[in-house]
Order: sequence, then structure tokens, then C-alpha cells
Amino acid sequence: MKKYNFYAGPAILPDPVIKEAAEAVNEFAGTGLSILELSHRSKEIVAMMDEAEQHVYDLLDIDKDSYSILFLTGGASSQFFMTAINVLDKDAKAAYIDTGSWSTKAIKEAKHFGEVEVVASSKNRNYCYIPKSYTIPEDVTYVHYTSNNTIFGTEFHQLPETSIPLVSDMSSNIFSRPMDVSRHAILYAGAQKNLGPAGVTMVIVRNDILGKVNRAIPTMLNYQTHITKKSSFNTPPVFPIYVSMLTMRWLKANGGVSAMEKKNIEKANILYNEIDRNPLFYGTADNEDRSRMNVCFLARDEAHEAPFLEMCLEAGCMGVKGHRSVGGFRASIYNAMSMEGVQILVDVMKELERIHG
Ligand SMILES: *Cc1c(COP(=O)(O)O)cnc(C)c1O
Repeated sequence: MKKYNFYAGPAILPDPVIKEAAEAVNEFAGTGLSILELSHRSKEIVAMMDEAEQHVYDLLDIDKDSYSILFLTGGASSQFFMTAINVLDKDAKAAYIDTGSWSTKAIKEAKHFGEVEVVASSKNRNYCYIPKSYTIPEDVTYVHYTSNNTIFGTEFHQLPETSIPLVSDMSSNIFSRPMDVSRHAILYAGAQKNLGPAGVTMVIVRNDILGKVNRAIPTMLNYQTHITKKSSFNTPPVFPIYVSMLTMRWLKANGGVSAMEKKNIEKANILYNEIDRNPLFYGTADNEDRSRMNVCFLARDEAHEAPFLEMCLEAGCMGVKGHRSVGGFRASIYNAMSMEGVQILVDVMKELERIHG
């Protein structure tokens, strides 16, 4: 039976990407070797990494002279401290917007390196909204926000209003919509939500923000190391980069991020409309802040939870169980999720209503 992958991460990848990745495990680029055993210094892998980098510039319309693209290890979680160690000076301050677990972790790590001011938080209502009115002090180095909150199902639909450079954790909505990269000093994203498999983290850095902090930065934690060495100072995670590159090729072939946005809005609308219509369910995030990627909802009657999850599995819908911080259900509908998959989940919701409503 066809499976529909609604897991939050590691998450769904496009079918053609999985097929091509599998072929490269057998043999890559006519070399007679598997991509898993090729040197990262070989011309085939260097060309592949150059292509990956070029796709990022193209897809997000990034100025090549001002920004560098990096493929690093350590997960998005390592970027929580790497951003701060590279750009936040000891006696300087950064503003953070706290919109959930991932923001909270980013805040904790940044505090090791400088002053952190949490300028807004939606903790008071279990992170079910994006804070709108807050003041950002003039003297902060950057403003950090989590563009999509994977766990709580909320998303920034407008950038924070400020002229101060932004730093964003875009792990779960990168390439799901056009992004104004020029407003950002740093963007980072763990690949395993909307880009590729686990094992690589993409970082987009504005070159001119580096080299200004008064501290020694360990070589591997210094963005400049990886810029100079084109993400190959040490052995890069070649295979996850390759699969991410294939996903970006697929994105381009399918109309790029504008086309993805259009499709993602449609998919999210279909699912949220059913959540709002079906008397057995309700959504957890405020309407205007609802994520297009991670759709969180609850059963009005807890007794319907187990049967619904059972019916989801029977229909091939995997990974619909919610994160423990919110409970209930979470359907992650990243770029690679088809309209058909969303429709099947909606049919299961209607079927639950027919049987138990
Ligand atoms: C999953 C996730 C992370 C953590 O990513 P790792 O690569 O596992 O460190 C950080 N931020 C957001 C928004 C996420 O969804």
C-alpha cells in the first residue's frame, strides 16, 4: 500500500529524489564507485557540491557577492551556539523572539557568548501564536527568530519589523516560500525537515558580519574556515549534501519556491478547512499564525484519539501522532507531500466523523 509520510523530521522526500539517491549509492557519475566511497576531493563530488551551492543562490535569489553558502554538520542545534560565537561579542547584546522549544534552546546557547534580551515570547499560551507587538532595542547586533515552529505549528508570515539584521532558524520551512534573504545576516536549516536527510545543516551567511568579535573561535566553529574551504575543511557529509542537491534540482524543475508556496498554501488550506469544519477536531494555533508546514490539531474527545491514529495507519498515513508538548495530532506537509496525501488524511478525518460523530 502507498504510504503517506507526515512525520515532522526526518521527513518526506520527493520520490524521484529517493530513486536517484539509491542509484548513486550503487554507482555515482560513471565513476564505478558508490557515492558513499568517493573522496570529497574528487572532481565529481566537488562539482556536485558546487551545484548544490548554486541551487541555493538561485532558489532564494541570493546575492552571490554578499553571501556564502555552507553545508555543515552538528545539526541546526549546533547553529544555536555557532551563530552567537561568530557574531555576538562579549559585551554586546542580541534580541531573541521566543516562539517555542527551538527558540528556547537557541536562547540558552547564545547566552554563553553575550547578552541576550528576549524581546517577545508566546510562552504564556503554550506557544500557540507569533508575538506581534514588541520593541527591539536599537543597540542589538541581531534579532533571532524561528521562522517556523515545527513543534507548535506556528509560522512567521511577516518578517519581524526592524532594520537590524535578522538571524533565522529556518529548519522547517526553508524553500517552502520565497524569503527575503537580504534582510538576514544568517539563515540556517537542518536538512531533515524540508531539504534532505539528516546529517547536514545548510547555513547562509552574509560575509561582512564576520570577523568583528573579539574572541578566539575554535577552527571548526568559525564560519570563516568553512567559507574559505568551501565546506570541505574537513570531510563534509557528502551523501546528505547530494540528496539535498537532488531535492533542490527537483524544486527548480517544479517551479521553484514561488510554485511551492502556492501549492503549500493550497495543501494547508485543505487540511485547516477540514479541521475547522469537522466537529470532532480543533486546531491549536491561532488562525493568522498557522504553519503551512506543521499542522497541529486535537480531538475534542480524547476517546477519539486512538481510533483516529489507527484509521490513519490503515489508510497509509504515517507519523500523524502529535508531539508530546502539544499532544493530539501533527501532520507535517512539507514540499514533497502531495495534494493526494493531504486529501487522504482529510478523508480519514471525515470517516472518523461518520463513524463517531
Ligand atoms: C528539528 C529542528 C531543530 C533541530 O535540528 P537538529 O538538526 O536535530 O539539531 C532546530 N530548529 C527547528 C525549527 C527544528 O524544526
